Amino acid sequence: MTSNTKNLPVAVIGAGPIGLSAAANLMDVGLTPIIFESGNRAGANLAQWGHVRMFSPWSYNMDPVAISLLEKKGWTAPALTEFPTGRQLLERYVLPLASHEAIAPHLHLNTRVEAVSRQHHDILRNAERPLTPFVVRTSNAEGERDILVQAVIDASGTYQTPNWLGAHGIPAVGERAASQSITYGVPDILGAAGEQFAGKSVLVVGGGHSAFNALQDLVKLSDHSEGMRILWGVRGSSVSNIVRSPENDELQERRRLEIYIQTLLTEGKIEVFTDIAIENIRSENGKLFVQSRSGQLPPVDQLIAATGFRPDLALLSELRTSLDPATESPAGLGPLIDPNLHTCGSVPEHGSAELSHPEPGLYIVGIKSYGRAPTFLLKTGYRQVKSVTKALANPKDIDRPATERTTPCDALAANGPCAQ
Ligand SMILES: Cc1cc2nc3c(=O)[nH]c(=O)nc-3n(C[C@H](O)[C@H](O)[C@H](O)COP(=O)(O)OP(=O)(O)OC[C@H]3O[C@@H](n4cnc5c(N)ncnc54)[C@H](O)[C@@H]3O)c2cc1C
Repeated sequence: MTSNTKNLPVAVIGAGPIGLSAAANLMDVGLTPIIFESGNRAGANLAQWGHVRMFSPWSYNMDPVAISLLEKKGWTAPALTEFPTGRQLLERYVLPLASHEAIAPHLHLNTRVEAVSRQHHDILRNAERPLTPFVVRTSNAEGERDILVQAVIDASGTYQTPNWLGAHGIPAVGERAASQSITYGVPDILGAAGEQFAGKSVLVVGGGHSAFNALQDLVKLSDHSEGMRILWGVRGSSVSNIVRSPENDELQERRRLEIYIQTLLTEGKIEVFTDIAIENIRSENGKLFVQSRSGQLPPVDQLIAATGFRPDLALLSELRTSLDPATESPAGLGPLIDPNLHTCGSVPEHGSAELSHPEPGLYIVGIKSYGRAPTFLLKTGYRQVKSVTKALANPKDIDRPATERTTPCDALAANGPCAQ
């Protein structure tokens, strides 16, 4: 922060749980946030999976700084050991925080951030770069606008950019053309999306908890909708080790779901296809034909791609970011969360040191900071914003890198087991 920029606000991109937490923490260290949310309410991505029961309890899902703001206004905390649905998190925590009198005046709904740069500087220009304000280009119903800020916290999530079904990381041949019969993410099968799946043959692709949720709901739907066929495609060669969470896992809801899916498999309610690597998808006479490395799958009416998400980094392309080439997370964080390297599933406590870029004043936080790694927990994001906002208030106050403090597996207990 310099005399050129110190009176400017700090931009927060996205009013999900982590963006709002960033705003609360900024105010806690004496900085002013300006929050941009593309949706018509805070928690717009969360609302898409509101029907899903979370596997972390309330105690993991709320930020202590936000809690103390809310409590000053007579809000009462939910029972900390209970597991909320996404909708309960939205209604009991995210929306009250967004409408809190300290946050609401700084929140701009229906306002998308299209790009971020430095004022009068393209990415090439060095001169006085760190002393120059950031420019945030926003768009809303009134048009486009440039807003000057002293720093940028990007908490815009990943839910709007799901991974492709294609095994090469790019769309399978024909995937785009077949997209009308493909649902990406976790559809509300027992609610709004019920008609789409009732009585149909459905292939769910993916090996994580999003797939488990879709499979669980499809089986429930099939209990009162005749003629359904539920297929599950996974990359691995077996689904025998579904119950992976330890018996004493604090994330008991995750273990409950794993055990339930195991039971459904034993009862033969789900047909499993292993070694799936999708190369081609063809849509013909209302059926989808999926060609995998291991052969042709049975034709289905609908496909659910529960294959995870990736960050949209385009809006930061005029800034000097440093990203891990595999995970697409900030370079300092990538090696700590790379699923190729860490099978223990732990993520060490980390903060401003790991999350910084060659562009001073820029931080990517929340689930977007994990890039393509699937292990993000809200609890981790709340720690990230505490550290980042402290560093913004006092740039000398950068946390020491996590690698100097702890090893990934040592930190398991401190940070909780991995998610998803
Ligand atoms: C099905 C599912 C279940 C999960 N369960 C758990 C769980 O049990 N426990 C747990 O800890 N974590 C869980 N997670 C992971 C994670 O905690 C959530 O995804 C969480 O919502 C991430 O919060 P966030 O604030 O980083 O991002 P998001 O909640 O995705 O918020 C991002 C916000 O940014 C807005 N936005 C996006 N682009 C722009 C733009 N260009 N301009 C302005 N605004 C923008 C979006 O509209 C959105 O409101 C789960 C995730 C999923 C998908």
